[in-house]
Amino acid sequence: MASNAFEALKLTRQFLNAIEDAGYTAPTEIQIKAIPCIMAGQDVIGIAQTGTGKTAAYSLPLLQTLKFAQGSAPRLLILVPTKELVVQVDRSLEELTKYTDLRRVALFGGIGPKAQIERLQAGVDIIVATPGRFLELYAKGEIDVRKIKHMVLDECDRMMDMGFWPQLRDVQEKIPQKKQQLLFSATFPEKVERLADNFLLFPTRLEVTPQATPASTVEQLLYEAPNFRSKLSLLEALLKDEVLSRVMVFVRTKEEASNIFKYFERKPIGEMRMLHSNKAQNARMNAIDDFKSGEVRLLISTDVSARGIDVFEVSHVINFNIPTHYEDYVHRIGRTGRAFKTGVAISFMDQSEAYHVRKIQKLIRQTILRKELPAGVEIYETPKPEFQEQMREIDRQKRLENPDFQGAFHEKKFKPTEKKKSPKAADKTSKSKPGKKGKTFKQTYKKKS
Ligand code: AMP
Repeated sequence: MASNAFEALKLTRQFLNAIEDAGYTAPTEIQIKAIPCIMAGQDVIGIAQTGTGKTAAYSLPLLQTLKFAQGSAPRLLILVPTKELVVQVDRSLEELTKYTDLRRVALFGGIGPKAQIERLQAGVDIIVATPGRFLELYAKGEIDVRKIKHMVLDECDRMMDMGFWPQLRDVQEKIPQKKQQLLFSATFPEKVERLADNFLLFPTRLEVTPQATPASTVEQLLYEAPNFRSKLSLLEALLKDEVLSRVMVFVRTKEEASNIFKYFERKPIGEMRMLHSNKAQNARMNAIDDFKSGEVRLLISTDVSARGIDVFEVSHVINFNIPTHYEDYVHRIGRTGRAFKTGVAISFMDQSEAYHVRKIQKLIRQTILRKELPAGVEIYETPKPEFQEQMREIDRQKRLENPDFQGAFHEKKFKPTEKKKSPKAADKTSKSKPGKKGKTFKQTYKKKS
């Protein structure tokens, strides 16, 4: 029953069966658009977010072109930005190739290359890799690139952001020029356009949603909270609602991730895990698997670690900070409302982040719904260092808008208005008495202009 619409895309029985097993009932928009072009051998630029079914959109026609295992040199190379995404794409391929004898290898760093080399030596048809590990094993003479006829660059915007441009150029120089190239990206900024201009030949450009538009199934909400401590209280209040059943919390740094983790450690909020780059690969994979299986309610992650993880049923995404890299907002909230499911993305904003919210709203061409703080949220005084950090950030934003701006903030210009409480004491109060309701930065510090 799954297959009628897929049959119309001229997929063969072994893939139709795999699709049926995977539980796909109808092709997604990007699949309908991309599969025929890719099957026809065209170069394609696909602008599609994670969650649109883009992996199957490029894999299915390429797998069908490869047909069956042949020789020992790889014929298809898929490059993605992170090891998590390598694993995820490889898992999708495993699912889709289950009725074929096509052989795959997943190449990524963070673990020794021995097992990967053994697999390459045994003969493969498909390589899924991060650019770094691919080049490393190529340099060791472990990859015969002469038969590569198809290449996919997935999540290109992210690859460019992560500085992979030199590696991508390197890869291009090493593999045969004559090949089919596909480029997928959630957004299409200028640097990705440059990449496409350099590498692709008369590409067909396919776009499933206007650039950087989050999936329409995602409800986007915004709360204002003046500082880290108040945001913690807000998160705690939100977590009282069981509707938040599988929650991904995005933070800026691993320190923030650890602080949030510590805060909730002894609270009855259910199972929680943390993902960041200091965690061993195994621990990260286990955390992801436990989260996917529903055992874990809360997954706290930095952006880089979260990249490309396929979590199908995330009920809520929480942006503990507003991403300053605006396309990350689209990526982050792409974790919820995936493939036909609805989801909620909640963002927390302090005064220094209002600027970023405005920029994001411009990018996504939508206004994020602002909500009143829920009952029970404690608003704490902003500790001086955090307040100063916010002021510096606001100055930076003003300078970005107006290069002549002198900067309103100098440490000396800001003094606590309450004489009795020195900033140090204020700091202490908010740390040592976390339950105490404090004042917001507005009440405590005044800007002398
Ligand atoms: P992707 O955009 O490739 O990250 O895919 C997001 C999720 O959608 C993955 O879990 C896929 O297994 C799933 N998916 C892909 N194609 C379909 C489809 N036609 N119907 C339902 N789910 C799909």
